[in-house]
Amino acid sequence: MSIKVQSLNKFYGQKRVLSNFSIEIPDGEIYGILGPNGSGKTTLLKIMAGISQFDGGSVTVDGIDAKTDQIAIRKIVGYVPETPYLYESLTPYEYFSFIGSIRGIPRDVAQRRADDLTKAFGMEEYNDQFIGSLSFGTRQKVSIIASLIHSPKILILDESINGLDPQSAKIFRDLLRSLSQDGMTVVFSTHILEIAENVCEEIAIMKGGEIVAQGRTSELLKERNLEDVFIDLTSTEDISSVVSALRGSLR
Ligand code: ADP
Repeated sequence: MSIKVQSLNKFYGQKRVLSNFSIEIPDGEIYGILGPNGSGKTTLLKIMAGISQFDGGSVTVDGIDAKTDQIAIRKIVGYVPETPYLYESLTPYEYFSFIGSIRGIPRDVAQRRADDLTKAFGMEEYNDQFIGSLSFGTRQKVSIIASLIHSPKILILDESINGLDPQSAKIFRDLLRSLSQDGMTVVFSTHILEIAENVCEEIAIMKGGEIVAQGRTSELLKERNLEDVFIDLTSTEDISSVVSALRGSLR
């Protein structure tokens, strides 16, 4: 299910946050969106997920117009926000069944999916604890599982891997790969360049609401590693002079 973004513009008040932004995310691809804080990643992902509106250009998600039919988009998209908004006084088990019912998924199907995902993430021991009492990483897992209960065709994740411990991050990486092999399109933003490097077939690097690099991961990283490419393209300062100035003032 491809996502096509053409000449997208988004303003917050007078401030232009996305500027004539175009990107095409092919069907079944794992696509990484990278960029420093404030470069517009969250804004872009929310528009693709049918959550935020935009001011100009066009966005289609599996052929559905994001300007006019956000509800249809939300039915085929699973979205995991950077900070999950969860019901603190429900248990994960209750939350998954609540999500299943508002998504219109038959109870037994929702329960089976929740059970399988809970097991995969090693979350069974938390099933009967209140979400409010869980750690940040465990809440991230709850949010990821909830986004998959309706078996979306497209999964959009905003910095959702950052809170996971190494083992869960590995499970998550393997899960993304197998979902994509089954035809799911996955778009995610992350600060963890190693994950982007290992998982994404294609990468776009953003800065100031524009794309500064885009392409197959293998092509982008032919000669240099992702950290060097990223810092080169997005840094406003010469890092080595910043570090030596810091060392000087800390001496
Ligand atoms: P990123 O995810 O790359 O950190 P964001 O999309 O969150 O970037 O933000 C891009 C820019 O838009 C930032 O300058 C941010 O301050 C601004 N911004 C984001 N959300 C809002 C909002 N609701 N109102 C006003 N400005 C916003």
